[in-house]
Amino acid sequence: MRLQNKIALVTGASRGIGEALALGMANEGADIFVHYHSKPELAKAVAERIRAAGRKAWTIKADVQDPREIEKMFDDIEQQSDRLDILVNNAGFEFGKPLWEFSAEEWDSIINVNLRGAFLCLKHAVHRFMRKQQYGKIINISSIHDQVPRKRFAPYCVSKAGLLMLTKAAAQELAEFKIHVNAVSPGAILTDMNREAIENIGPDFGPRNIPWRRVGETDEVVGAVVYLASDDSSYVTGTTIYIDGGYRLHTIRK
Ligand code: NAP
Repeated sequence: MRLQNKIALVTGASRGIGEALALGMANEGADIFVHYHSKPELAKAVAERIRAAGRKAWTIKADVQDPREIEKMFDDIEQQSDRLDILVNNAGFEFGKPLWEFSAEEWDSIINVNLRGAFLCLKHAVHRFMRKQQYGKIINISSIHDQVPRKRFAPYCVSKAGLLMLTKAAAQELAEFKIHVNAVSPGAILTDMNREAIENIGPDFGPRNIPWRRVGETDEVVGAVVYLASDDSSYVTGTTIYIDGGYRLHTIRK
């Protein structure tokens, strides 16, 4: 059990990668705040499975676009727990269209969920818990598109590139408080976010561009996050683990 009795918040844990991370971390002994935005029934089901595995679980709601909702979420966490050991910033969304057609509001919504939301969760986790504890593990779920651009998804790519720099800047600044900050960047993992695109295998997207010739499963993201959340990674900070079957290499692969 590598996370025995640790307390973790996983944002966007109602489905997809976040669900797999919440369950995987619980199986390693952690108690989990299962955050969701719009799907309470899914979050409750995840929490039930965690409890069935013998760990504590609480469901907790916030639109991470809204700073006040994030603040309220951390108020609620403080009511339930005097510690928060692990924060996984996983909540995210994307949509694509030609760059010149994005409105200012659409641009802001993507940046605000994927980047500002992660920053605000980090800020509250650090300020309210981790600095005092002199202990914290923060894992930002980025994307291969923090490095590799994707046509029609410029704001998403920019948000994830920003998340990578937030990871490095925070790792540097928070080391003195014994807080580790790292990122995990998946490639194409089959979830609601991209099911349609993956199943249709569009011209610039799909297994033919992936050296391993398949998309990933949500469970394949769990090991890296457990490693970064555990004390096995005690000298690892400010880095990124790519989990992509080599997908980010496809622009240089022939
Ligand atoms: P998903 O299945 O679409 O799930 C998204 C999760 O984020 C849900 O739990 C959702 O909550 C939550 N969420 C969405 N908008 C939110 C908001 N405004 N406020 C709070 N929570 C919000 O997505 P996924 O594929 O698992 O992606 C999870 C993370 O991995 C994202 O950061 C994504 O960018 C990253 N990623 C995914 C892939 C991939 O191929 N799937 C690849 C690279 C990176 P509700 O269910 O309650 O609405």
